[in-house]
Amino acid sequence: MSVIYDRVALIGLGLIASSMFWGMKRAGLAGEVTGYARSADTRATARDIGLCDRVCDSAAEACDGADLVVLCVPVGAMGAVMAEIAPVLKPGAVVSDVGSVKRAVIDAVAPHVPAGVHFVPAHPLAGTEQSGPTSGFAELFDNRWCLLTPEGADEAETAKLRQFWEGLGSNVDVMEPDHHDLVLAVTSHTPHLIAYTMVGVADDLGRVTDTEVVNFSAAGFRDFTRIAASDPTMWRDVFLNNKEATLEILGRFTEELFALQRAIRQGDGDHLHDYFTRTRAIRRGIIEAGQDTDAPNFGRGGKV
Ligand code: NAP
Repeated sequence: MSVIYDRVALIGLGLIASSMFWGMKRAGLAGEVTGYARSADTRATARDIGLCDRVCDSAAEACDGADLVVLCVPVGAMGAVMAEIAPVLKPGAVVSDVGSVKRAVIDAVAPHVPAGVHFVPAHPLAGTEQSGPTSGFAELFDNRWCLLTPEGADEAETAKLRQFWEGLGSNVDVMEPDHHDLVLAVTSHTPHLIAYTMVGVADDLGRVTDTEVVNFSAAGFRDFTRIAASDPTMWRDVFLNNKEATLEILGRFTEELFALQRAIRQGDGDHLHDYFTRTRAIRRGIIEAGQDTDAPNFGRGGKV
């Protein structure tokens, strides 16, 4: 693939930014990639491992002259970072982000975007429970969706950003920001909260020892622990910034949970069986869409 942007600046150098960098290198999507992270430790690590062609000591220096700036910091930090870099952005530059919530990021970032600069928000639906500059890999976005929420942004720049994410391996779709937040509350945000809760419950339960939990964690709990190991700052910001949609889905979840609780208490096997049959079909749909493997235990070796 050929170069899409001559100069790309990545602000924040964690899992997503480092995966974008290695993905850009794999596909030759950028002439030069500059990067900035807030701590000197992260910048030093980035320099050690060759993450970015040039690691800068300020966000403004990294963004100076950039054609594309991607904000790769936690959702709650986006507005302040945008305010800091605004004065150095060149006319015609594109600012994008990778935040897991869209409406709150747009509200925080858009007021600081200077006239003549384009803002095209994005969210790659790809991640792991790892974080930091050493956690990225070029294949992270392969065959994953990236949602753009341009809401009136320049069409040509939106098309160019779409091409960029396709170059990183993603399938790209466009969505309205509030709808994005509702969809993600269902598919990602509430499930994370449930995983955090279940692991917290196991930790609090005095009658089952920590050793028993660790040694006898069958696949269900083990998968919860993987999700519940996700970065605390990122996820705190997701819930604080996607409050309405998460609370709506959590309310519905609680109602369903009470219904299942009653079915168990009343010995209503038909209810449980019908419910589990319906949910099994959703899993089949995800596999048929190529978004997961149907190998036993998610393709992992070892015992469940
Ligand atoms: P990460 O690995 O934890 O990296 C975050 C980066 O942001 C670090 O370089 C960190 O700098 C910097 N940072 C943190 N707080 C900051 C602040 N207040 N001001 C300036 N910089 C700050 O995070 P990530 O997983 O790449 O996530 C980045 C963004 O992608 C988030 O908005 C998240 O919602 C979104 N996202 C994440 C995933 C996922 O699964 N992880 C998936 C899709 C989208 P230091 O290293 O110097 O602390």
